[in-house]
Amino acid sequence: MQNAAPASLNSKMRVDPSRILNTLVNNLNGMVYRCHHDTEWSMLFVSQGCYELTGYHAEEFLAQDGISYEQITHPDDRERVRDEINLAIQGGRRFTVHYRILCKDGQVKWVHESGMCVQDELGIPVIEGFMEDETQSMQMMEALENAEHYYRNLVENISVGIFQTSLEGKYLAANPALARIYGYDTAQELISALSDIGTQLYVEEGRRDEFRYQMQQNGEVANFESEVYRCDGSKIWISENAHVVRDVTGRFICYEGTVHDVTERKHHQALLERQANFDALTGLLNRNMLHKLLDQSIARSERLGYFLAVVFVDLDNFKIINDSLGHAAGDTLLVEVAARLKNCLRSTDIVVRQGGDEFVLVLNDHYRVQSVIGLLKRVLAEVGRPVNLSGREFQVGASLGVAMYPADGGDTMTLLKHADAAMYAAKNKGRNNFQFYTRELNRMADERLNLERAMRLALERDEFEPFFQPKVDAEKRIVGVEALARWDSAEWGMIPPDKFIALAEETGMIAALTDMILGKAFRQVAHWRAQQWPLQLAVNLSPKLFLKGGLPEHLSALARHAGLPQECIELEITENLFLGDDEQALQKLCDLKDAGFQLAMDDFGTGYSSLSYLRRFPLDIIKIDRSLVTGIEHEEEVAKIARAVISLGASLGKTVVAEGVENQAQFDYLRQQGCDEFQGYLFARPLHHEAMSALLLES
Ligand code: C2E
Ligand code: CA
Ligand code: CA
Repeated sequence: MQNAAPASLNSKMRVDPSRILNTLVNNLNGMVYRCHHDTEWSMLFVSQGCYELTGYHAEEFLAQDGISYEQITHPDDRERVRDEINLAIQGGRRFTVHYRILCKDGQVKWVHESGMCVQDELGIPVIEGFMEDETQSMQMMEALENAEHYYRNLVENISVGIFQTSLEGKYLAANPALARIYGYDTAQELISALSDIGTQLYVEEGRRDEFRYQMQQNGEVANFESEVYRCDGSKIWISENAHVVRDVTGRFICYEGTVHDVTERKHHQALLERQANFDALTGLLNRNMLHKLLDQSIARSERLGYFLAVVFVDLDNFKIINDSLGHAAGDTLLVEVAARLKNCLRSTDIVVRQGGDEFVLVLNDHYRVQSVIGLLKRVLAEVGRPVNLSGREFQVGASLGVAMYPADGGDTMTLLKHADAAMYAAKNKGRNNFQFYTRELNRMADERLNLERAMRLALERDEFEPFFQPKVDAEKRIVGVEALARWDSAEWGMIPPDKFIALAEETGMIAALTDMILGKAFRQVAHWRAQQWPLQLAVNLSPKLFLKGGLPEHLSALARHAGLPQECIELEITENLFLGDDEQALQKLCDLKDAGFQLAMDDFGTGYSSLSYLRRFPLDIIKIDRSLVTGIEHEEEVAKIARAVISLGASLGKTVVAEGVENQAQFDYLRQQGCDEFQGYLFARPLHHEAMSALLLES
């Protein structure tokens, strides 16, 4: 070819510019054109690129009846395109327009066109220009715009707080949700109000430093939970997830992340933890914590060489107070006792509410038994101080059982078991005292279990029966008998009631036991009455039974069945029953009275007696406790009290009975003072019914 000239020739001289132009024009990715400035944009020249752009061949534009460029311009854009081009031409400027064309295949494409008005070779004005496909970039732009819109919306409307902050702790950006979480009206307010996150936002000092430290170490923080101040000064808990944003060169730009308000969860969690580890009533640690803490204490003792004491504390008479005064009073008592226990121990010691009226103390760091004893004495004294319940003062004792580490056990379970056993020993010792654990105590605990088993068997075998102790008048004539329970055990012989009544009450066997005793006593006395001995019968009623409903009907049925009139039956009830001084107790007494029974207050003078009971309650008989009779002949004080009680009873029209009369001097004194009836070893011990029958025959 002609223009493929050897390189050695002067190439500059040989260049054909129109040829180069031709090549360029036809290979451009787009379309070069020349057209008339007329209504059809009639084409004078179009480059080859027009096919790719529009789908029409160049010839189709140039032919007489071919396609016009106006025709392929999108109808919606035609006017605008013409206006813009005209405006540029009038101003003698180049023009640039974006618009849509309709391709031959129906496709719509965005084109970018630029050109200007020039004069052709003959001096006629024509337009020359270039247009190219920009559909793709337009689509990308559109997608970008959509995306931006979408993300902006998301950030604005999402409920999660979003932020960007500077290294120094200023806000660069925040979304409305963050403003809401922190209590500001708008994000802008938040950004301008919080100029130092470290001091203004976080409650805990150094929290921002921790945030930055973690960022430095990991480039991010995850579930970073902190307490923060809201705009109004209130505090909430938040959880942050954030990361470092860097530019392409790795330079720090900002921290960016999200904030969740987790206050509710935090509170819930705290509540659950409290519930799991603390006793709701007293606020003390609960039994769940006991094992863990005791394990720790043992490890500590082991390390330091001190010993520790595990103390089981059980309140004496709590059940009586709770049953008679009501649960609210019981709760008050427990709260008070908990506070006192805490008060008299050292901060290193642990107080746990084990449940019910049981507490466990862990006394750490002792090196002498004496110091433990000192503490225990203090505990007893504190718990024993009067407590005000329902407007009255009560004294509540406690029974304490102590197991020492390491002597009494090497692990938590053993220590607790042994402290518990020691506590039972304290109870059996007469309450309101403490007992240390020994092997002997363990044996006693076992015995208790055996006893319970044996009692159940004894009920089945009908081994319980009443003994009868006579009551005499001032002339020593037998006027009645008191039925006292005895257990005639095949295994152990005759067992007195103080060995089994309490256990029967604790285990619920008391109801069956009472039925057995009362049934037999009723029948026996009915029999004696039939033989011309007009005896009264006194029976003992556990407060436990009294508090259950339906007692009058039940007792009446028993009496009827035995053929013994209710008027001959005296129901002995201990003072403890009257503790509550409440309407309920009064009502129950009235019900029994209405059923025809006589009512007696047993053991008068021992408990929390209030003389007002004597007036208010429908009692017929007062039994002066043995402790007020014993020593009456030597002790002026005792004698005075006995005298006062007798005259009081008499003035209220009650029958006064003295129990535990052991000698003539006591009998003489009491008789002198106007006591009505007498009971005691001086006249007879409790007797088997055969011996009693013999005694009756003698009299
Ligand atoms: P209590 O009702 O005060 O019965 C009087 C207790 O004093 C009886 O003891 C009796 O044997 C004892 N006693 C009587 N006279 C004298 C005396 O002159 N000197 C001395 N030192 N003691 C005397 P007991 O039979 O061992 O009964 C003890 C307690 O067991 C009774 O005290 C009563 O509270 C309870 N109890 C006995 N039987 C029953 C029963 O069937 N049901 C219930 N719930 N309790 C019962
Ligand atoms: Ca009695
Ligand atoms: Ca008594």
